[in-house]
Amino acid sequence: MSKFDYASLIVDIPDYPEPGVVFKDITPMMADPQGFSAVIDELAEHFLGRGINKVVGAEARGFLVGAPVAYRLGAGFVPARKPGKLPREVLSQSYALEYGTDEIQIHKDAINPGDKVLIVDDLVATGGTSVACAQLVERAGGTIEGFAFALELAFLDPRTVIGDHFDQEIFSLV
Ligand code: IMP
Repeated sequence: MSKFDYASLIVDIPDYPEPGVVFKDITPMMADPQGFSAVIDELAEHFLGRGINKVVGAEARGFLVGAPVAYRLGAGFVPARKPGKLPREVLSQSYALEYGTDEIQIHKDAINPGDKVLIVDDLVATGGTSVACAQLVERAGGTIEGFAFALELAFLDPRTVIGDHFDQEIFSLV
């Protein structure tokens, strides 16, 4: 249970980006000074003291939460990006979407053997993005220390999808 009432700062947008989907708009939470500091502090404080030295966040909203969490942990931040966005040699991981597949990449030298890595995103839905990010980290020789999300869409059961691949802690605020 969270110390802060985030729910009032998260807006449901029906039928966005397509009919039948209710999009969770977190931009009011990020724009609110107390909301923003609470979400970053709560996620980071939960994982403090575990020796985490890298945070991986996926394009694009994962950058908004992941980078300040990394700063708060005294860790580096590694962006996971869509194909064609990173300028140097990359590791790629494809993952299943409801229809079709998508792909995410990190720079090959961004994670080193021995790195202790936290996967951070604003929201976990199916869990596919986070699993792909964590697989990239392991392929690069890093160790996954946990998964941190501001919001978890529990009805999509991301814990089962992530848990099929990783047994590290999954921590969400809402
Ligand atoms: P997943 O791979 O299905 O877990 O989707 C998670 C990714 O999709 C995250 O990077 C989110 O930013 C984005 N996402 C999916 N649904 C929503 C939503 O309702 N609001 C905001 N972001 C979403």
